[in-house]
Amino acid sequence: MYIEGKETNRKGIMMAKIQDTKHTEDCMICGRELIYFEDYREVECVYCRKEFRSNVACLDGHYVCDDCHSMDGSGLIESYCRKTDKTNPLEMAMELMKSPAINMHGPEHHFLVPAVLITSYYNILDKKDVKGKKLAVAKARAKDIKGGFCGFYGNCGAAVGAGMYMSIISGATPLTKESWSLVNLMTGTALIAMAKIGGPRCCKRNSFIAIEEAAKFTDKHLNVKLYDYEKESPVCSFRLRNRECLKDECPYYRKRH
Ligand SMILES: [Zn+2]
Ligand SMILES: [Zn+2]
Repeated sequence: MYIEGKETNRKGIMMAKIQDTKHTEDCMICGRELIYFEDYREVECVYCRKEFRSNVACLDGHYVCDDCHSMDGSGLIESYCRKTDKTNPLEMAMELMKSPAINMHGPEHHFLVPAVLITSYYNILDKKDVKGKKLAVAKARAKDIKGGFCGFYGNCGAAVGAGMYMSIISGATPLTKESWSLVNLMTGTALIAMAKIGGPRCCKRNSFIAIEEAAKFTDKHLNVKLYDYEKESPVCSFRLRNRECLKDECPYYRKRH
């Protein structure tokens, strides 16, 4: 069932506890079955990495705490990115997208894209103190990129997110010369890759494209490899939530997911 972009049978671990026990719920991270223990055990929240005592987790041990479960999309993205030590932006994007706080489509992706790229870049450089400040800047800027920018303004917010990432790490302003060029080239490169595939919009597909193009761009212009983009391509697990999925025309589509 599909309600306002959210799949109702994927509300995650904490919702599962308060739902009708006859109703089987699966882990929102990996889709595996949830296990309820008689006793309370030490578990770590996938998003905030804090330790909790709980009597529910999935077969793979995933757990999401109450605070993270009830956070809005942007709040969750910021807190996850501040805490994580991960360096692969695709892996971070996938993990975030699996939370019910992130809609199938929505302007939270305009923050998600620069957030995982900034996190990857500064985690690789081991500059975690800088990362937090830069994430706050991205969050504030991303608020200005409204939903529907792609079709109405000819400027997909995920591509702008890639440009925003480049602006934030290079310190570009409207008055700089080289970095001004870089940030506009970054957005343009991502937009061209998206335009070649065409619509309808899919915030997952276009976020993956923006992240891939940003990884290639960062390697070429700044000599930092965010992940092995030549070998690694995401396999989308969101097709059932997207009524307008391009299926075989989408580079990330696989039937089994
Ligand atoms: Zn799981
Ligand atoms: Zn948490």
